[in-house]
Amino acid sequence: MDQLSLFGIEPQEPQTNEAQDRIRELCDFLNHHSYLYYVLDKPEIEDHEYDKAFRELSDLATQYPHLMPQDSPLARVGGQVLSGFTKVNHEVPMQSLEDLFSQEEVETWVNDLTSKYGKDIVFSVEHKIDGLSASALYENGMLVRGATRGNGLVGEDVTENMRTIGSLPLSIKGAPELLEVRGEVYISKADFAELNRQADENGQQPFANPRNAAAGSLRQLDSRIAAKRHLNIFIFNIQRSSEDTGLVGHTQGFEYLRSLGFNVVKNYKRCVGATEVWEAICQIGTDRPNLPYDIDGAVIKVDDLSLRQVIGGTSHAPKWAAAYKYPPEQQPTVVTDITIQVGRTGVLTPTAELEPVRLAGSTVARATLHNADYIRDKDIRIGDTVWVQKAGDIIPEIVKVDLTKRPVDSVPYEFPTVCPVCGSQAVRENNEVAWRCTSPTCPAQLVRSIIHYVQRDAMNIDGLGDALAETLVNKGIISNVADLYKLAERRGDVESLDKMGAKSTDNLIEAIEKSKEAGLDKLLYGLGIRHVGKHTARMIAKTYPSLEQLMAATQQDLAVVEDVGEVIAESVIRFFSEPRNVELVQSLAASGVKVTYDSGLQSNKFAGMNIVVTGKLQHFGRDEIKAVIESHGGKSSDSVSKKTTYVLAGENSGSKETKARTLGIPVISEEQFMEMLES
Ligand code: NAD
Repeated sequence: MDQLSLFGIEPQEPQTNEAQDRIRELCDFLNHHSYLYYVLDKPEIEDHEYDKAFRELSDLATQYPHLMPQDSPLARVGGQVLSGFTKVNHEVPMQSLEDLFSQEEVETWVNDLTSKYGKDIVFSVEHKIDGLSASALYENGMLVRGATRGNGLVGEDVTENMRTIGSLPLSIKGAPELLEVRGEVYISKADFAELNRQADENGQQPFANPRNAAAGSLRQLDSRIAAKRHLNIFIFNIQRSSEDTGLVGHTQGFEYLRSLGFNVVKNYKRCVGATEVWEAICQIGTDRPNLPYDIDGAVIKVDDLSLRQVIGGTSHAPKWAAAYKYPPEQQPTVVTDITIQVGRTGVLTPTAELEPVRLAGSTVARATLHNADYIRDKDIRIGDTVWVQKAGDIIPEIVKVDLTKRPVDSVPYEFPTVCPVCGSQAVRENNEVAWRCTSPTCPAQLVRSIIHYVQRDAMNIDGLGDALAETLVNKGIISNVADLYKLAERRGDVESLDKMGAKSTDNLIEAIEKSKEAGLDKLLYGLGIRHVGKHTARMIAKTYPSLEQLMAATQQDLAVVEDVGEVIAESVIRFFSEPRNVELVQSLAASGVKVTYDSGLQSNKFAGMNIVVTGKLQHFGRDEIKAVIESHGGKSSDSVSKKTTYVLAGENSGSKETKARTLGIPVISEEQFMEMLES
C-alpha cells in the first residue's frame, strides 16, 4: 500500500494545469510535518513518508521550476528557533544532505562525480547517526558555545545542555585559538529504551524514537533535565579553525579530532568507485541492528577537502556528499488481543498481542501501546491488521493500521476503567496520560514492587526472580517487602514451592539477610517512591543520612537537595505521609534493615582527586572501581578534562587515554592504582 495515500495525499502524474495544486498540497504537507518534527519534536508521520513527499516535490521542481512557491521547503534546511532560546548565527552554514534511496541512485551519484572529477576520487562512507545536528565552539581550548542547527543559518544556543554531554570535552589542549566542530547529538538505544520504560512507569508520554528523545532533551530550557537523559555526541566535521590545520582529507580530520579528545564518527570506510561505496553501505546496513545507537542511513562524502570546494553545492546541501536512507523495515501482522499490565505504581500499560512476525533479526509477538490516548489516536483495535517496526531498532511498535483489512464487525477498543488484576477502580489523574489502579493492596502492583525492591541496584537480593515474586504473592506468603524478612519463619512453605528446594531456599534466605546491610540510599530506591531513581536516592541519603532525619525534613528542605527539586520533594513527602508506608519502613527497620546511610569512607587517600577510568580492568567492575575511589574520598568522572587528576587505563582503553596524554594528565595502570590503594 502506498504510504502517502494514508494521509490523504494521493501521488499523481500531474498535468501542467494540475501541477500547481499538487505542489501546493505537497508544500503544505511538508511544511506542516517539518514544524511538528523540528519545532515541536513531535513527529506524526514516519520519516520515509516525509522523504517520499519531499522527493515528489523535488521532481516537480525540476519539471516546473516556475511554479515553485516562495515557501517551498526544498530550498531550506528544516528547523526553527524556539523563542525560549538565544539565537546563534552560524558563521559556516549547517547544511542538510541530499537523499538517495536505491543502489541505482547511489551508483549514478558516484559515477556522475567520478566522470567529472576523476575515477580515483576517494569517498568516505560513514554512519548517518539519527540524532540532531549541533555545533560546538571552542575559544582558547574552552567550550564557549553549543548550538543546534536550527534553519541552518540561525540556531539555538544550547550551551548549558551541551555541557551535560559527557563525551564532549569542556576543554581541549593543543587546539587552534578558535575551533568550531559539528556533530550529531544522540541517545543510545539502551538509554532510549530505559527513558521510555520510565515514561510508561510514570504514566508520561513516551518518546517516538531516539532522535526525538535527543532533540527534546537538547532543547530543554532546564539543563538539569537534559543532564538526566544521557546525551552523547559524535563529531563528524570541522566547521572552522583559526589556524591552517594542514588537513587535506576528511578522514584525516577524524584522526585529528580524535587526538583532541572528541568522540568522532566510528567505522567510516574509504572507498573508490560505485561498487566499493555500495558494498560499504550494505555492510553498514548489516551492522545496523546490532549498533548501540540508531542510524537512519549512510553518508557518502568526497574525502578530498580541496575537491569539495571545486564541487560546491546548493543553499540546501553540498554536492560532494549525499545520504543513503535505508528502507524502513516494517511488516504487517494481526493484533490478536490487547492485554493490560499493572506496574509498580499502579499504571495500567496496554500491550498489543500480535501474530508472531520476523522483524529486523528477531520474532516480534508483542508491542507496547503505551496508554489509552495512544490506542485512541491510532485507533488500534483487536483483529486489526497493523504494520509494525522497531523504534530505535529495538522496541516493536505499531506504525499504523491497515484500514482496508479491518473486519466489518470491528469495534473501537475500550480502555478498562477497573484494574484487570484486582478489580479496583482505575482513575486518571490531572495532566496524566495514564490510568492507575487505586488499590493499595493490588497484587500486580505488589509483585512489581517486590521485583523492583530486590533488583541489583536496589537491595540486591539474588535468587528472587519475577516468577518467584509472583508465586510468593499469589500464595499469600508475602504481602509487602517487609514480609521478605519473615521468610525464614516460613521456610517450609518456600521450600515446597515449584522449582525451589532446600539449597535454593537457603541461598534466598541468606541473600535476604545480606540485603539488610544495603543502606538507606538503596532502600529509598528500592521502595519505589515515584520519581526517586538511584542517583536521587543517594543524594537524599547523603543529605539526610538516617530515616529519622529524612522523615523530619519538609518539602522545602528536600527541594533544595542537589538534583532533587519540587516534583521529587513532593513525591517523597507524599510517600511518607501515608500511614501504610510509615508502617512498612518501621517494620523493615524492626527486622534489622539498615535505615541509615554510611558514606563508606574508608580513607582520604584519594581526597581532592578526580579519577577517570577507561578500558577493561582485571580486578574491578565499572561500578565497583567507582565505589572504591569514592570510598577513599575521591571522585570518579566519565570524561577527561583539565580537572582530571589521573586516568586509570585498563585493557583496550581508547580516546580517553589519548586525550589524557594530549592534556598531559598522568595515565596509571591498574597495578599502579592498587599500589596507591595499598600504600
Ligand atoms: P537529514 O537527516 O536527511 O541529513 C542531514 C543530517 O544528517 C545533518 O544535519 C547531520 O546532522 C546528520 N548526520 C548524521 N550523521 C552524519 C555524518 N556522519 N555526516 C554528516 N551528517 C550527518 O537531513 P535533515 O535536514 O536533518 O532532516 C531531514 C530528514 O528529517 C528528512 O529526510 C526526514 O527523514 C526527517 N523529517 C521527518 C519528518 C517527519 O514528520 N517524520 C519531518 C521533517 C523531517
